[in-house]
Order: sequence, then C-alpha cells, then structure tokens
Amino acid sequence: MRTIKGLLVSAAGTQGLSRQQQAAAARELIRTAGLAVYEASVSQAEGALLALARDGRARRLVVVAEPGGMPNDRVGLCGNKEPRASARAAARPPAGPGIVHGHLAFGPLIRDRHRIDVDNTALELGTLPVGHEAACGLRQLLAWTAPQVVGLRRSVGLGDRLGLATPGHLRAVQGSGCVPFPAQQSIREMTRTRRTPEQVMDDATWGVFQAGWREGFGSDADHLKEPADIDATDAAGFTMFTIDPGDHVRSDADTMGGASLSSGTDALPWAELETSAADFRKAYLGRSFALDGGETVTFNQETLARAAIKYGSAIVHTVRMFRHLKDRRGSRPFELEVSVDETATPTTVPEHYLIAAELKRLGVEWVSLAPRFTGEFEKGIDYKGDLGAFEESYVQHIAIARTLGPYKLSLHSGSDKFSVYPIAARLSGELVHLKTAGTSYLEALRVAARKRPGLFRRILQFAFERFDEDKASYHISARIAAVPHPHALQDRELETVLDGNDGRQLLHVTYGSVLTWENDDGTYKFRDELLEMLIDDEEEHYTVLAEHLGKHVQPFAR
Ligand code: ZN
Repeated sequence: MRTIKGLLVSAAGTQGLSRQQQAAAARELIRTAGLAVYEASVSQAEGALLALARDGRARRLVVVAEPGGMPNDRVGLCGNKEPRASARAAARPPAGPGIVHGHLAFGPLIRDRHRIDVDNTALELGTLPVGHEAACGLRQLLAWTAPQVVGLRRSVGLGDRLGLATPGHLRAVQGSGCVPFPAQQSIREMTRTRRTPEQVMDDATWGVFQAGWREGFGSDADHLKEPADIDATDAAGFTMFTIDPGDHVRSDADTMGGASLSSGTDALPWAELETSAADFRKAYLGRSFALDGGETVTFNQETLARAAIKYGSAIVHTVRMFRHLKDRRGSRPFELEVSVDETATPTTVPEHYLIAAELKRLGVEWVSLAPRFTGEFEKGIDYKGDLGAFEESYVQHIAIARTLGPYKLSLHSGSDKFSVYPIAARLSGELVHLKTAGTSYLEALRVAARKRPGLFRRILQFAFERFDEDKASYHISARIAAVPHPHALQDRELETVLDGNDGRQLLHVTYGSVLTWENDDGTYKFRDELLEMLIDDEEEHYTVLAEHLGKHVQPFAR
C-alpha cells in the first residue's frame, strides 16, 4: 500500500487528493483488500484515508490508517441526537451549519478491522456499513459531505424521492455555477415515501461522498407547515427551511365584494400582526413604493384590503414559524424560504410586495420566496399559460425581490418548465432558485422501461388502477384515456409513456402508492425491486438524470 501509506503521511490540500492519487489508492484497495471503491470518493481526513466501496448492492465506508491511528475516539456529531445538558457547556465541538450538537464516537463503529501488511508497511483497515451513524461521522470528518447555508447564489433543488439520485444530479449541475440542493424533500413527500428526514439527509451525504462533490451543497426541508416539521428536519441537519403558510392563505379574497372586504379587514389578527388596522392603512394607502428598475407599486383601498385578507394570516403563521426556527437554531446559521406557491390563485405584484414588506417589518429574514406565479405550473410537464404575461409579472416580482431583499425568487414545481427557464434565468441574475423533484422519479422509471420492461409494465398497470384516488391532491390535467396501456406496447415503446404529458402525470401522481404499496405478506410490491434495479444499473440511472436534469440547469448556467 505504497500510495495509501504515502497519502497518510502527506498533508491534504484543501482541494483534496488529485485524480491520479485517488485512482492509485482505489487500485491498491481493490488489489489488497478486494474493495470496489468509487474513485472520486477517496479522501484524506485527519490521518486516515476514507473511501466509499460497493459491496454487492450495499455500500461501505472504508477507513485506512496507520496502526493506532484510526479516528477511534474521535467525537463525531450525530444529527438526530439532542445534546445532554451536562455535556453542553464542556464538550461542545464546533459545529458546521448543517450539524446539530450531539455526541457520537466514530471509532467504535468501525468494526471489521484488520491489519494489512504490504511492502513491509503495516496499515489498519476497517469498514462501516453505510448508515446514519456512519453518515454523521463522515459529515464530521469531511465538512464537504455536510450541507451548507448557500445564500444569494443561483441554486437548484434536486429532490430525490428514491435516495439514489444524487450522483446523477451532481453530474447535471457540474460546471453550471449553480449550487445544488441534493437534500430536498417536503414533509408530504417523506410521508408518501416512508422516509425520514435523517434518511433524506444521509442519502444526500452518501451521494455527495460517492461523487466526490467538494463544492458544497444546500439542503431544503421543503413545505414545512407546522413547528413540529421544523423540529424534525432541524434535528436531521437541514440548513434551509421552506415555510409554507399556504393553508392560511385566503384565495377567496380575490372575489370578495365590498362588504366582505371591509368585515374581513376588521377581522384580521391585528394583535399578532403587531399593528392596528389604522396604522396598517397609514403605512400603505395612497403611497407609492418605488422598485429597483423604475417600477412602482401602489395600493388603493380595495387592493390593500384584498391583499391583507388573502395573506394576513399567512404572514402571521410565517412569523410564528420563523421565530420558532430562530429560537431552535440559536447561533447555528440557517436560511429560510417562504412559499405560497401551492395556492389557488396567483400572487399579484402588490400582494407580493405586501407579504415581503410585512415579513420584513416583523423581523423575518429569508433568502428566497416562491410566489404563486401566473399560469399553470403543473407537475412534471412544461408551463401552461401566456409566457408574455409570465415575463411581464416576473419582471415586477424580481424587482420586488431586489428592492425588499435582495432575495431569490423560487420556482416551485420547477420540473420540466423548459419554456420559463430562459425567462427566469435572464431576468433573475443570481436571484433564482429552481426546485425540481418529481421529474427525477420519472427518469428512474425510464431506466426501468429500458432495463426491466416487466417491472415497468406492472408499475404502469398499477398506476392506472391508482390514478383516480392518487390524483386528488395534485394540480394536474392528465387525461389518462390518452395513455397507452402496457399490453398495447412493445418493450421498446414503453419509454414513450414518459414522453407525453398524460403519461408523465399518470406516473407522477402515483409515486407514493408505487413506492409504499405492500403485498399481502408485508413485502413491498415494487419498492425493493425498483431500488435494486437502480443500484444494478446505477450508471444508466446517473446518465439519464444527468441528461434530463442537465436540461433544467443549462439555461441557468453562467
Ligand atoms: Zn412547492
């Protein structure tokens, strides 16, 4: 193990090992220990060499050190453990932004240790199964495997419902200048896929490690609706929190008549808004607010009342969530997104202005905001609507974001919205966050269509059976009568189901059922088979993801 021995005694540069060093070390690990190592993962930390190895369908963390030099008693940080009161003051190691304090000895986890003697050099090699504790230890040893606060940089959310997509996602982002958020999942998605926030975070960590992505990444606890959602995702180490006060938005305000507007205004939670109806009117009525770029926003009695009724309670809820989060985080940095995208009617320009101005007055700090844009952002397909109207409103939304922030505009349901990307990219500068998720699940099904036609046929048939029930919570327009049934397709035609809007939406909205449906004996109907297929054909999976998500990212590349 000449290479490894040499690497252990030489200091690692901040850029990590060179590709040649990684390749040589990987070759030695294969030769001397039979470990099929992902070359890009080979890293050096605190006198040890770390790498990720494939072991059948499982993965293992490999640690090599000089005898006695294993990071045995090194204290790692485990994201889901609360600090014990007694340990708090004395033994608090410095934490990165993504790390919650808690104590975990990394060394004892390394079982399966043995001496290796090659060329008169004795080294100790151990492996750990890839799991939560190992992920916590890894995030401590290699800071780049933990998420960071991203701030006002162009970024793209890459939701991964299967936990295996991150290496492909990172290829899609490579060289674009956009910061990836490979850990991004909403509470609803985690419920539907039966995954925990820890699993989402850990899967991203392992994917980042496997791919050797050292450029940093964000993590988005998406669509949080209650304080308990904050607690669960904060404990797992998330760094961005997307607050969704959508349940408190009153879209019926759009069509209220005069009497309802006036009684609705009186009934607003003024105490919680920490103002009075009179002071509120004074702050907005008859005033003109100049925006960066020359536009202005004005409120008359009616637009002000409508905006206040529509979003007043949502503002209160967002403030409550922000303060809860801030209390919890203490000195640990975090970033916040506010999303009102999942509501019935578009957020008008004055409404966006009012939301932002009020949140600011109430002390909320946020990095991005997702208005409900004009037009239809249906799941898994391109934008439907008037692109001219979209652009016209986007110009004003981004002007508000520059004026009252700056903060980023966040494009939710951003999968496959190819016609809006050039507009958003051109007008936003750095101030844009694109959020995708469902499209990556569809690309995983594309791999199934190519590699396991039988599995794909069964999933498609099941989707037809589930569609009526599963579509209920979605904003879609699919006509499933237009989707070919599996028996009508040759194997090589199966993939075409994923190329039409109706087929995409049929398969998109049924993901939860597909991933969690159980047979009578308690085994999963599709889940394990699908995941095993993606592991067996991981290169194909990464390739289709890199290609398809690359098309999403490319318009935003610098
Ligand atoms: Zn959303």
